[in-house]
Amino acid sequence: TAASFGHSVIPIVNKLQDIFVQLGSESSIELPQVAVVGSQSSGKSSVLEALVGRDFLPRGNDICTRRPLVLQLVRTKAKADGTEEEWGEFLHLQGRKFFDFNEIREEIQAETEREVGGAKGISDKKIRLKIFSPNVLDITLVDLPGLTKVPVGDQPPDIEARVRTMIMSYIKPKSCLILAVTPANSDLSTSDALQMARNADPDGCRTIGVITKLDIMDRGTDACNFLLGEVVPLRLGYVGVVNRCQEDIQLNRSIKDAIIAENKFFRSQPVYSDLADRCGVPQLAKKLNQILVQHIKTVLPELKSRISDALVSVAKEHASFGEITESKAGQGTLLLNILSKYSEEFSSMIEGKNEEMSTT
Ligand code: GDP
Ligand code: MG
Repeated sequence: TAASFGHSVIPIVNKLQDIFVQLGSESSIELPQVAVVGSQSSGKSSVLEALVGRDFLPRGNDICTRRPLVLQLVRTKAKADGTEEEWGEFLHLQGRKFFDFNEIREEIQAETEREVGGAKGISDKKIRLKIFSPNVLDITLVDLPGLTKVPVGDQPPDIEARVRTMIMSYIKPKSCLILAVTPANSDLSTSDALQMARNADPDGCRTIGVITKLDIMDRGTDACNFLLGEVVPLRLGYVGVVNRCQEDIQLNRSIKDAIIAENKFFRSQPVYSDLADRCGVPQLAKKLNQILVQHIKTVLPELKSRISDALVSVAKEHASFGEITESKAGQGTLLLNILSKYSEEFSSMIEGKNEEMSTT
């Protein structure tokens, strides 16, 4: 079973996001989402896939993620007969349900190429994908191209600056939680991910460090000092993970098996036994979940006042133009109602100590 929220507030946030899209004000109201940053091939897409529990992103030891992918996870109820139905839908192919996750990956690749061609070019035009599943948390994740230094293929000479600007535009807003991904076989003090995260979030109040590739560290070394924050301190701390290697991917090893293998890895390494709460994808999911709840609590009052401001201005516009903006005003009111309900649910959730979540 995936992480479970008692009286979850996050589905309401997802609902709000959909309404914002319809209102056409998506970019003017910043809702919490989670973005991954890091160097190319540090394991960003692998971490996202592991959190989703499904295999559907282009990955590899080359540039695979070449456009931002905004991935909205929507938790559905399991069917009464116990069978699970999971599917994806792209914004650019509305109405088509993808039940085959390999086809989702192919469509991400095809849609990337439609925009930027086949030769490693990049674009900041996002691909939007919703995944519906009973096994996910209701959150929005953003997979971003990795930082590179040397242009290859069709990449422009200023590729590094371009990718930085693109990443910054996602992680700068205070409403974005940052997963700063660094492989364990490199030094944390040279981490692009941590450097960018620090630029965007100098106080470190919304950055989680993720250390990947714990399985392929130099023999005789371990990641304990990284995980303990002794190298680069991070207020929200670090989680170490082991994702699938390229061979596992070629052999079609499932994520489920990968999580079992990860667990086995940590149990076989005595150095990590005291750091169990900082090791493994399920711990990362749990941490994210808790931080998200806390984060939403922090941004809620501002969100509410911005929406009422927007509503006042729409109402004024309405008054001066007559019927034209009626539906927008209606949606604004609806939005405020949902938010008010949401605040109440949120308060009762906090007071009811329903914050605790369980993960696989
Ligand atoms: P991205 O460019 O940051 O999105 O990185 P990917 O997720 O595409 O991963 C790059 C390569 O590293 C792939 O071949 C993955 O199989 C491999 N990889 C990612 N995480 C791990 C890990 O924890 N251990 C090992 N051995 N390989 C990993
Ligand atoms: Mg990637």
